[in-house]
Amino acid sequence: MIQPIIDQQVINKVQRLINGVKSIAITCHMSPDGDAVGSSLALCHVLRRLGKDAVVVTPDMVPRSLLFLPDVRGVITFTQTEARARRAIETAQLIFCLDYNSLHRIDKLGQVVMSNSCPRILIDHHTEPEQMFDVMVSFPDASSTCELVYRVLMQMQLLRLVDRWAAQCLLTGMMTDTGNFSYNCEDPDVYEIQASLMRRKVGRQTLFNMAMNTFSADSIRLQGYALSQKMRLYHEQHASLIVLSADELKLFNYKRGDSEGLVNKPLAIPEVRWSVFLREDPDYIKVSCRSVGDFDVDQICKKYFNGGGHVNAAGGEFYGSIEQAVSTFEQILIELFPDCEINPDNDKN
Ligand code: 5GP
Ligand code: MN
Repeated sequence: MIQPIIDQQVINKVQRLINGVKSIAITCHMSPDGDAVGSSLALCHVLRRLGKDAVVVTPDMVPRSLLFLPDVRGVITFTQTEARARRAIETAQLIFCLDYNSLHRIDKLGQVVMSNSCPRILIDHHTEPEQMFDVMVSFPDASSTCELVYRVLMQMQLLRLVDRWAAQCLLTGMMTDTGNFSYNCEDPDVYEIQASLMRRKVGRQTLFNMAMNTFSADSIRLQGYALSQKMRLYHEQHASLIVLSADELKLFNYKRGDSEGLVNKPLAIPEVRWSVFLREDPDYIKVSCRSVGDFDVDQICKKYFNGGGHVNAAGGEFYGSIEQAVSTFEQILIELFPDCEINPDNDKN
C-alpha cells in the first residue's frame, strides 16, 4: 500500500484549480531530461483524458534519446516555435511547473510564464524552490518528479486515467532520475509505484534501452576518451574531475546528450566521493556534480556555479574559461580540505 505523503488540502487545491479551467500549460526545465519530459507528458496525457486542453511547453529541444516517448511530437519548444510557445503560455488558465525550482531553469520561457497572472502549480523534487507558485508539491527526498506526479494523481483518485502511455512516461522518468533504480530510491514506495506502472504493460526493458542505454558510436568513444585520458583523481580529497574542451567535443562530433551519465562513472571507484564534469558549451562551462553520502553538491553548485539540484546530484553554469573553471574547482578543494595537497594524477594532458 502506497502511503499518501502530500497534504490532502494541497491536493484538494490542485483538484479545484484543474476543475475550474479548460486550457492548461505544462512546463519543465531546459535541457529536459527523462524526468522533466516524462512527468510533463504523463500529466498532459491524463489532463487531456479529463477533457482539458493541455499542452507541454519546453524551453528547448527534447533530446533524441527521449523521442520515443508517446505524444512527444506534440511538445511545443520555445527555441523552435517561439510564437506558438508564447501563445500556449499566454492563453493558459493554469500553468504546471514540473521538475524545476526556479525561473532561471526555464530560460527565456520564464518571462512569458511570469507575464501570465494565472495560478502556477509546482510539482518538483529540487531543494529550496523559489516562492513564485500558488501551490507547491515540493519533496526534495522524492526519487523524481514522475514519482510525485503519480502520487498527486493517486491522491486525486485519478489513477484510472494513467494508461499504458502515461505509465511509460512516468516509469521512464523514475528510471532516468534514479540511474535505473540505483540511487535516490531507498523508499520502498518507489518500487510499489514502479510495479503499479509495470502492470500497465509498459515494456520496461525497451524503455530502459531506449532512454538509458542507446548511445552513438561517437558518444561511446567520447566517454571512453574522457575516462581513459581526462579523468583526474585528487586522491587526498576523494575527488574526481573530467574536463572536456570544445575542441575535444568537436573531435568526437559531440551532440547534446552524448556525455549523459559520464559524471557518474568515477563514483564507481570506492575512494571517490565527489565527481565533477566540466564541459565547454558555446555559452558557458556546463558543470555537473555527483557525490555519495552527505557530501552536498547542491550547496557547492549554488555557491560557485550558478546552479543547484540535489544533495548528491547537481549542476550549474560557469561563466569564464575552462582554466578558470578548473581553478575554481581546485579552490573549492582547498577550502574544503585545507590540509590536503592539490596533486591530481592520471592527467594525460
Ligand atoms: P546534470 O548534472 O545531469 O545536468 O544535473 C543534475 C541535477 O542538477 C538535475 O537534477 C538538474 O535538474 C540539476 N541541475 C543541473 N544543472 C542545473 C543548473 O544549472 N541549475 C540548477 N538549479 N540545477 C541544475
Ligand atoms: Mn528530476
